[in-house]
Amino acid sequence: MTTSDTAAPSNFISTIVEQDLSEGRIEKVVTRFPPEPNGYLHIGHAKAICVNFGLAEQFGGACNLRFDDTNPEKEEQEYVNAIQDDVRWLGFQWDGAVRYASDYFDTFYQWALHLINTGKAYVCDLSPEQASEYRGWATKPGKDSPYRERSAEENLALFEQMKNGEFDEGACVLRAKIDMASPNMNLRDPILYRIRKESHHQTGDKWCIYPSYDFAHGQEDAIEGVTHSICTLEFADHRPLYEWFIDNLPVPATPRQYEFGRLNLNYTVTSKRKLKKLVDEAVVNGWDDPRMPTISGMRRRGYSATALRNFCNSLAVSKTDGVVDMAQLEFFIRDDLNKTAPRAMAVLNPLKVEITNLDKDHLEELTAPAHPDLDLGERVLPFTREIYIDQEDFKEEYSKKFKKKLTPGKRIRLRNAYVIQADEYEKDAEGNVVLVKASLVPNTLGVDPEDGDKPKGVVHWVSASHGQQATVRVYDRLFMHEAPDRGDGDFMDQLNPQSLVTVEQCWIEPGLAEAAPESGFQFEREGYFVADRYDHSSDHPVFNKTIGLRDTWTNK
Ligand code: ATP
Ligand code: MG
Repeated sequence: MTTSDTAAPSNFISTIVEQDLSEGRIEKVVTRFPPEPNGYLHIGHAKAICVNFGLAEQFGGACNLRFDDTNPEKEEQEYVNAIQDDVRWLGFQWDGAVRYASDYFDTFYQWALHLINTGKAYVCDLSPEQASEYRGWATKPGKDSPYRERSAEENLALFEQMKNGEFDEGACVLRAKIDMASPNMNLRDPILYRIRKESHHQTGDKWCIYPSYDFAHGQEDAIEGVTHSICTLEFADHRPLYEWFIDNLPVPATPRQYEFGRLNLNYTVTSKRKLKKLVDEAVVNGWDDPRMPTISGMRRRGYSATALRNFCNSLAVSKTDGVVDMAQLEFFIRDDLNKTAPRAMAVLNPLKVEITNLDKDHLEELTAPAHPDLDLGERVLPFTREIYIDQEDFKEEYSKKFKKKLTPGKRIRLRNAYVIQADEYEKDAEGNVVLVKASLVPNTLGVDPEDGDKPKGVVHWVSASHGQQATVRVYDRLFMHEAPDRGDGDFMDQLNPQSLVTVEQCWIEPGLAEAAPESGFQFEREGYFVADRYDHSSDHPVFNKTIGLRDTWTNK
C-alpha cells in the first residue's frame, strides 16, 4: 500500500478500532470496501475507500475488496474491472484475491435452510402489492402474512422448488420471521431470497434465486472475518437486522457495523443511477468523461490520486451527511498540481506575430526550467521570426486597462524570451486582427531594455514554425446549479452548456507533443492541463483542461 501525503486523520471509527485493539477484543482490524458492480465509482466511493483502506493502513490490518453482486440484472463485468482499476489507481491494494458475494452463494443457501429449520424463515406467496400492504408503515404495525406459519418441511420443499426454477419471478420469496409489528420496518419479516431468472456475471446460470443485500452483507463480513463493517448512514436502520442475522446463524465471526455520513459535493451528483443516466443519454462521453465525478473521470481530467486522497482525508468522518463545497476539492487539485506539474506554454487562441527584425530562418534555442522549485530539468523553446501569442494578449488601442497587453507602439515581454514592441497589425475582412508585426528589442533576454522603457506585462508564446498544433478540450463544471439534484426540478435541466469547449487549433511548445498520456502540466497563464489518457499522441496531441489557475466560481 502506498502512503498518502496526508495520512488519514483520526475519527470516531478509528477511535473504536484503537480501543478494540488495545482492549483485546480483536487482534487485527479487517475492513472491506464492498461496491455493487452496477456503475463506476464516484468521489463518494473514494471517501469510503480512503476510510476503509485507511484504517487497515493505520492499524496494520487488512482491507478486502468485495463485490456485492447480489443483483445480476444491474451488474456488469465492465464495472467489475473498472472498479478494480480505480482502487489500484487511488494507491490501495486489497488483501488477497478480489472477493465476490457470489463466492458465498452456496453458504447463504445453507444458512437460509438453517433459518427455515429453526422456524425463522418461511416462503411467502403474497404478491409485492399485498406484501407492501401487510407491511404497514412507520406508524402502523404490519400484519402477519397468511403464509407465516408454514411448517419447516413445507418451506424446505417450496424453497427447493424456488431454487430449481419451478416458480416464476415474483411468485414467492423467502422471508425471515422476525416481527411484523416492529417499529423498525427492516425487521418486519424482510426478504432473504427472491427469484430472478437472470444470468449472473460470475455464477452464470447456476442460480435463479438471489439473496437480498441485507441477508448477504453481514454474512459476507462474517465469512471474511471483517471486524468493522463500515457503511453509510442510510444503513443505520438496518443494523438491528444485521445483528439479528449474526445472532441467528452459525457464522464464524461477529463483525460489527458502523455508519458514517455520505460525501456529497455541490455542483454535481453522486448517485450511480444519475451518473448512468448522463452516460446513457450521451450527455457525457462515457463514465470516464472528464466532467464526471467518477474516479476514472477525475483521473482523465488530470486530478492526481494524491490530490483525491488528500481531499478525502481532509473531510471529517462524521455521523451526519453533509455537502462539501466543490471549491474544497479544487483547492487540493490545484495545491498538488502547483507543486508537481511541469510548466509549459500553449496558445489556445493563436494570433500570429511576425518579428520583422529577425531573419526568415532565425532559430534560437532558448531554455526555461520545467518547474520553478523542483529540479525537473529544462525545456527547449525554439524562438523564431514567426510566433503565436493569444488573441487576448493583443489590443488595438492602448489603455491603462490593457497596459499588460501588447498594443501598437508598446512593449511586452515574451515569457522566457525577449521583449518585443508592436509596430503595426493587419485585419481580415471581418475586422479580426490576424497578424501583428513587431520588432525585437535587442539584448533583452532575461534583462530589461537598455533604454529603460520596461514592458509592463509578460505573455506566453509558441513558435509558429517549430511549435505543434494541438486539440485542447476546455472543461468546466457539468452543472450550473449548486444543488442539481436537491431542488425542485430535474437535475438534467441544470447542465452547464459550456462544460466542454473543444479548441482545435491550439499551438503548443514542441516538447509537449512528446508528453506521455496522463502527464499533467501548467500551461503558463492558462491553467492546468493533462495529456489525454486515450486520445493523445505525438502526431495528434490532445490535452484536457484540468482546472484554471484560480477559482472563478466562488463569489460568482
Ligand atoms: P450510489 O447511491 O451511488 O449507487 P451505493 O451506496 O449504492 O452508491 P455501493 O456500490 O453500494 O454504492 O457503495 C459501496 C460503498 O461505498 C458502500 O459502503 C457505500 O456506503 C459507500 N458509498 C457510496 N456512496 C458514498 C458516498 N457518497 N459517500 C461515502 N461513501 C459512499
Ligand atoms: Mg448500494
